[in-house]
Amino acid sequence: MTNISQARYPGLPAGLTQGQPLLWLNPGYDPQADGRQTGLDPQIAEDRFTRCAGLLAQMFPELQAGGGRLSSPLTAIPHLRDALTRAPVAGAWLLKRDDALPVAGSVKARGGFHEILSLAERIAAEADLLPDGADRLVLAGPAAQAVLGRHAVAVGSTGNLGLSIGLIGAGLGLRAVVHMSADAKEWKKQRLRARGIEVVEHQGDYAAAVAAGRAIAQADPLMHFVDDEHSEALFLGYAAAAHELQAQLQTAGRRVDAEHPLFVYLPCGVGGAPGGILYGLKRLFGAHVHGFFVEPTASPCMLVQLACGVQQPVSVYDVGLDNRTDADGLAVGLASPLVAPLMASLLSGVFTVAEDTFYADAWRLEDTEGIYIEPSAATGLRGPLQVLDTPQGRAYLQSQGLASVMDQATHVIWSTGGSLVPEDIRQGFRQRGRQAAGVA
Ligand SMILES: *Cc1c(COP(=O)(O)O)cnc(C)c1O
Repeated sequence: MTNISQARYPGLPAGLTQGQPLLWLNPGYDPQADGRQTGLDPQIAEDRFTRCAGLLAQMFPELQAGGGRLSSPLTAIPHLRDALTRAPVAGAWLLKRDDALPVAGSVKARGGFHEILSLAERIAAEADLLPDGADRLVLAGPAAQAVLGRHAVAVGSTGNLGLSIGLIGAGLGLRAVVHMSADAKEWKKQRLRARGIEVVEHQGDYAAAVAAGRAIAQADPLMHFVDDEHSEALFLGYAAAAHELQAQLQTAGRRVDAEHPLFVYLPCGVGGAPGGILYGLKRLFGAHVHGFFVEPTASPCMLVQLACGVQQPVSVYDVGLDNRTDADGLAVGLASPLVAPLMASLLSGVFTVAEDTFYADAWRLEDTEGIYIEPSAATGLRGPLQVLDTPQGRAYLQSQGLASVMDQATHVIWSTGGSLVPEDIRQGFRQRGRQAAGVA
């Protein structure tokens, strides 16, 4: 059988356009690359988070306990590892719990807080309310709040980014407008509306909601549009997670060097969150960190874009896939044109995951470790097996000279969302997961 996509895009791995789960190794991966030449400096975001910590602690009760610092736990998941693997498996499996990030309940808190803080600082500075070096607490004061209240922030989203920007924007005193695609989950719309956030619904997919929201914001000088496909502020907010992970690995006694490789598995939608995190990690760990993105079999937009070359946009629709997945946040047809070129040399590979697999794995994680995460966040749970237990994974380890040190490897599976999912929705996910795992 001939396959038109395969003929037109020879870089695509066999089986991709049929929706087969697979691991694709990035031929452009360069262990020496660290992204430094791009000029995007994660320190900008870290400094902003530091100077705004007092403000965040005051404005968000959820952040008080941590002194206004945004962070999530790093947790060992040995029971899940044992459940997924029969033979004893080498290395440590750790779960980075961004599902538990305060306020937004997903990785989007990182990018979202950074972009909205940067916006609030700019608005206040333009109103002469924020002299150089001023304590950011003035943003919570009546004068700044009066000004901020006249400004709006808008975003287009299938869910989690809208939830993040809406809750964070409103929390900082801005009017917030969230443009959602028709397939966005009802509970997310309700949660936003309950907080006084405007929800505008659009026909079509995520890209259509983004385009509509962007057009409306462009016509309004007091409305800032958070542009998931192009935003450097979001990207840098994600990148700031790298130092947090570095400190946690140190505390956990996990070294990262040539004999102790670090593998990171990151669910990918448009690419901003996983791209920013990997970018930050590459600057800290260089060739010793190996980044793999995870995408649903129906929506492998970053894989498609990198496999076809980043000179021109190629979407999952172009290669005959339908972008229909239950994995919220990952149903993205076209990768970010900001992030894809950056990943061309930094990313080790991408693996794709079928719907039943991530539903089942989300259920298994809760069953074995008592940790609930949303289905899209569970896509990375088989990352270590992709690397250790597939022909492509073993080829990667060989090519990087890692086969003999995998006993000492650290695998960090990035869990990207879940704590805001209401209990009745969780019940539905659990049931589907139990069925998919064959224990119903
Ligand atoms: C948004 C999101 C991602 C991926 O982030 P992108 O910046 O879109 O690549 C992963 N998991 C969840 C749960 C998300 O909401």
